[in-house]
Amino acid sequence: MFIDSRTVERDSVIEADLAIVGSGPAGVSIAKEFLPTGLSVVVIESGGPEYEQEVQDLYKGEESGDLMKEGKSYLLASRRRQFGGTSNHWRGWCRPVDPETFLPRSWVPESGWPLSQEEVWSYNDRASELLLVSNFDYQSREMEQKKKPFLFEEDSAFETAFVHVNITNFADAYGAELEAASNLRVFMHGNLTQILVDPEATRVEGLEVKTLDGNRFRVEAGAYVLAAGAIETPRLLLASNRVQKEGLGNGSDQVGRYYMDHPMVTAGALLAPNRSDHMRAYRKFRLPARKGSLRAFLLLRPEAQERYQLLKSMTVLRPLASDQRPPLPREIARLSYELMQTGAGRPVTEPEKTYVGTVEIASEQVPNPESRITLGDELDPLGMPRVKIDWRLTDQEPASILATADLLAREMGKRLRGRVYLAIGDGPPWDHSRWSNHPMGGTRMNPDPKVGVVDTDCKIHGVDGLYVASSSIFPVAGCSNPTQTIVALAVRLSDHLKGVLRS
Ligand SMILES: Cc1cc2nc3c(=O)[nH]c(=O)nc-3n(C[C@H](O)[C@H](O)[C@H](O)COP(=O)(O)OP(=O)(O)OC[C@H]3O[C@@H](n4cnc5c(N)ncnc54)[C@H](O)[C@@H]3O)c2cc1C
Repeated sequence: MFIDSRTVERDSVIEADLAIVGSGPAGVSIAKEFLPTGLSVVVIESGGPEYEQEVQDLYKGEESGDLMKEGKSYLLASRRRQFGGTSNHWRGWCRPVDPETFLPRSWVPESGWPLSQEEVWSYNDRASELLLVSNFDYQSREMEQKKKPFLFEEDSAFETAFVHVNITNFADAYGAELEAASNLRVFMHGNLTQILVDPEATRVEGLEVKTLDGNRFRVEAGAYVLAAGAIETPRLLLASNRVQKEGLGNGSDQVGRYYMDHPMVTAGALLAPNRSDHMRAYRKFRLPARKGSLRAFLLLRPEAQERYQLLKSMTVLRPLASDQRPPLPREIARLSYELMQTGAGRPVTEPEKTYVGTVEIASEQVPNPESRITLGDELDPLGMPRVKIDWRLTDQEPASILATADLLAREMGKRLRGRVYLAIGDGPPWDHSRWSNHPMGGTRMNPDPKVGVVDTDCKIHGVDGLYVASSSIFPVAGCSNPTQTIVALAVRLSDHLKGVLRS
């Protein structure tokens, strides 16, 4: 059932077995997992079915950091406050976190997950079903077949890898089913403004929900899940400070730290005279009789990462003819044009077979406690402190991006007799950067409450009944797009909560 929170009786108490805050891919996945259980579920969603500027503006805040752009708001562009969450305008690239991301790497500070790859990957099939993409099986015949026309063999620093692409909008895909469910109520236009706790701040007693038109009510449940995204989830914990003054679950000053995204740099242009056939595969292609499509990209092999001490990164090659290419930084556009005209000194005997494209590198970020979400001084119309983001990179990311681009240039020369013309080199390449819009970190998972916010069950340390389903719990980002793993971990949390609520 869908309910407009503005019509709920003021100061009433809504009861349920489970309360979920947020209806993006994480929140909807948990709600769907609970439909067959008969347990009663309440979803609190700030937005409505349509985009509303007044609601979206609740995401405004203060922004600083290496990748912020004058006149553009990361806080507004990187998420959507609406039923269905940011799946209302994402790109649908799905890929699990790579195996080596789960392991400590000596050259990546604070690397490794407290969960094994096997544990997280065991939920990938159920996540793929929810995301409406094909199941991942890198070793399958189908993948090997697809790899055949690709460039890099085992002796290379790079390998060809894939993302599955399907732009599943969770509101469109599951809205009708949620609305029809008898054990589920979605309260739209309802904003969690305070997590209410006992005097010791060790147990959640309820959620304070407010609407923009001044209504207010309370939700009480057996367990609570924050699925409000990786920026808003730390904000909600920090702002829930009526009892624990430093913010709920923030006894060790960890809430909001380790904020990450995937810095994405247009590193240069690739010219491959007479070799466009070899590059054909690096485009999106549909999977016959399967869901969505596949897109190939380049991944540094784990051995190369270790040998050159590099961060994980996704290198995407985009032919200039593609209508999907992003706006190019000016000098890359000029460079590419010149390459097309002149062949840069190489004989272009078959112009129509000459490949010219851009090279984009999306890097993982080093976990960095100084990269932070905190609260600003200004209040939003609901009376909540606006968020403040200081997204900080280290020296390692630009060095790793440049070294990766260098390696690629050498490999392209060797394998394609092509050339990569780098537009980066002196100083951090952030003028050539874009956001990936992949908020991660902020409520880091670690079994030790001194260095983590959630435990391995995704429960907030020291607070009974309060869980997180979001990329805010990722301890290390890896380079994969985050939503596949957000949904896999949401399904895992659902299984855990079914046990908790039935016991
Ligand atoms: C342009 C763009 C392209 C992207 N492309 C990709 C891609 O190709 N692949 C990929 O993996 N990821 C991509 N992403 C990221 C992806 O959208 C997110 O990883 C995903 O949506 C996160 O899901 P979530 O449920 O955790 O959070 P969200 O989808 O952000 O949902 C959070 C929900 O919480 C609600 N909410 C927030 N605060 C409150 C509150 N106080 N009270 C009640 N409700 C609240 C919001 O309204 C929202 O519905 C992209 C993002 C953008 C912006």
